[in-house]
Amino acid sequence: MAGRELACPCCNGTLTPEKAARLLDEIQRLTTMKEAQPGRGPVAAGAPTRMIIDPHAHMISRTTDDYEAMAKAGVVAVIEPAFWLGQPRTNVGSYIDYFAMISGFERFRAGQFGIRHYCTIGLNPKEANNEALAEQVIDALPHFLVKEGVVAMGELGYDEQTSLEDRALRLQIELAKEYGLPIMIHTPHRDKRAGTLRTMDVLKEHDFDPTRCVIDHNNEETIREVLDRGYWCAFSIYPQTKMGSERMSALVESYGPDRLIVNSACDWGVSDPLAVAKTARLMAQRGVGSDAIHKVVYGNALAVYGLNGEMDEQHWLAPAAIDQRTLYEGNSVLRGGQTPRIEEPGRSADDLQIV
Ligand SMILES: [Zn+2]
Ligand SMILES: [Zn+2]
Repeated sequence: MAGRELACPCCNGTLTPEKAARLLDEIQRLTTMKEAQPGRGPVAAGAPTRMIIDPHAHMISRTTDDYEAMAKAGVVAVIEPAFWLGQPRTNVGSYIDYFAMISGFERFRAGQFGIRHYCTIGLNPKEANNEALAEQVIDALPHFLVKEGVVAMGELGYDEQTSLEDRALRLQIELAKEYGLPIMIHTPHRDKRAGTLRTMDVLKEHDFDPTRCVIDHNNEETIREVLDRGYWCAFSIYPQTKMGSERMSALVESYGPDRLIVNSACDWGVSDPLAVAKTARLMAQRGVGSDAIHKVVYGNALAVYGLNGEMDEQHWLAPAAIDQRTLYEGNSVLRGGQTPRIEEPGRSADDLQIV
């Protein structure tokens, strides 16, 4: 710097090489301090683009590592839809315990890792085919539909499109109307297009408002009609198969972000709890605007699943402290000797990064 003169940006005085070096040191010190203290301070303006809601995640099948990774990737809230367990339940008691778990202990467990957990309640189409069981489950539903954190009825719909499935679907659409709940529809994996169209026909017959209903597991064959009929249109991103991040991004690019919702549908099968975060990152790389990304990984899910008032942005913008010393009916997420994580509320925007 010898022989040159620099003006100080704040006072316009002469900045000597010594002064400039001191200034650089100060800047470096501040940067290091910031890096050493992640998770402090409120969410900065503009940070919402980095927040993610995964509105379809079967978290009871996932590990605490998954919760930690999701929180780190920016997931602030998840919705756990009631579904089947990979093998059929043999009695209504299993169902009642399951509903109690997804609206109880799992909600607590997610909270211990800084993620807000909501659920949907319903009899899934597959098990609607066990007529005696289905009847008992439907009778048991009302008790759970009014519980805290229940944001919709679901997953409802068709599996093999049998008459018993049809009956359960219709009964539950009426229940959703009666209890003022939105509906999450599971569309069949076989004969998807026909099953999806038929589901929407039935919803219409029952006069169910499409703006209160998410049709899930869509693909290129179903998106147009689902959007045209006024429904929210969700996509489950599975690794290697069905809807991947590239195809999802291409759909957002050609249809625009309105009423599209991305989820991971992670469960006990080959699935990825970070699928929404990874898709958001890919969309950004492909040049999708941040407002559009924000809508499909956050805003749209909040708009529809927030309809009954149970899901509220304040739950994660002004969260309770994480305190792993907390117990749920006497039980902790920690095992003997582990150090509890205790964290004051307030996520730093630096914490919410899609990596
Ligand atoms: Zn499903
Ligand atoms: Zn599911």
